[in-house]
Amino acid sequence: MSSLAFESTVGSDGVVSQDAIYYESDGNVILRAENTLFKVHKSRLTKMSTVFQDLLALPQGDRPGEGGSDENPVKLAHDTAEQVRSLLWALYARPDEIAEYIADNNVDDERWLRLLHVVRLAHKYDCLGLARWALDAVAQHCRTPESVGTTAIVTAIIQLYPLREQLPGLDDWAGAFIQRSWVRLELDDLALLRAAAVAHWFSLERNIYCGLVRKTASHWSKLALVPQEQARLLAGYHNLNEVLMKLPSLTFDIEHPSCSTDREAGSCEANWKLIWHECCFRANRPFLEVLPRLQVIEMALDSVGDGKEPVSRLVWSPRGVYTTSPLDPVVQQVPLPRCWKEYRRATKKLFEQVDTIIQTCFDESTGLIDTTSPALEALWLPTRA
Ligand SMILES: [Zn+2]
Repeated sequence: MSSLAFESTVGSDGVVSQDAIYYESDGNVILRAENTLFKVHKSRLTKMSTVFQDLLALPQGDRPGEGGSDENPVKLAHDTAEQVRSLLWALYARPDEIAEYIADNNVDDERWLRLLHVVRLAHKYDCLGLARWALDAVAQHCRTPESVGTTAIVTAIIQLYPLREQLPGLDDWAGAFIQRSWVRLELDDLALLRAAAVAHWFSLERNIYCGLVRKTASHWSKLALVPQEQARLLAGYHNLNEVLMKLPSLTFDIEHPSCSTDREAGSCEANWKLIWHECCFRANRPFLEVLPRLQVIEMALDSVGDGKEPVSRLVWSPRGVYTTSPLDPVVQQVPLPRCWKEYRRATKKLFEQVDTIIQTCFDESTGLIDTTSPALEALWLPTRA
């Protein structure tokens, strides 16, 4: 750990005060994080962490008496008071108190945030065992299907992303937990977006941009996006539209197990093309995100395939609503079951590309996608190219 991290960058604004809990009368070293002073036992810190060993063993001649008084504390730059309080809690609390606190539903969000602070600082101060213990406790909670977290909790998890090599397991649950929280709660989009950028969690950053597109322009305009962020959002929006525009004209090569002649196969293919086109058209709504759009297409295909809905053409009426009218009499047959099954298998494979599509559309290096570009079809079907 570089000593640079401990240079005095703590602001001098505001009133400095002693922590209500961790300012022990018989402590022998004083730490300062933000504007809070902590008085604790040096031996506790040095036993926990070699980083503290080095930090507190600095030659006294260099900065005489550092840590010896409120006026001259050891300054923990970059750590918040709450993070340090959490670390000291893990250091000073008894195992039964810790267990009781973790099990206490009255401190719901606070406890996970506290444990996340412990993970962060225990990692920073080179106490990996403690970091992993705290992360395991958080993971147990976050793996439950109903769990969601506030902006502060989700941000704290995102900040751990760069440490995932040393904190294995994070990858298994963090993404799903964040996604679930994002969908169910009103989180601070901008805070998460920027945390993801700082943590270099690029796939998450792209997914957040994609989520913003779904929330529509009236939502974006309320966010204080900087010009660079606006440009990425709009480029991604454009790209997503271009890629989705390509959907109806995509072709599917199948074996035609139900068709015995080329002529039958040709007619089967023509029927499919029209059905596919019409079902895509049905999902063609502004701001409908890629995943819901594909779900609409799937539902329409199922409905036609099950014979619940006649093969029909959607027409945009002057009143602004879609109505259906029969297709040309030549084309009104759903492909025979085994061919239909093959087509559906192909569409499912296509829909599996959604994540790749989103990542590509919102990738900074993609630039603007041109809907006439021959590369576009390959993007939908990378395994077929
Ligand atoms: Zn066929």
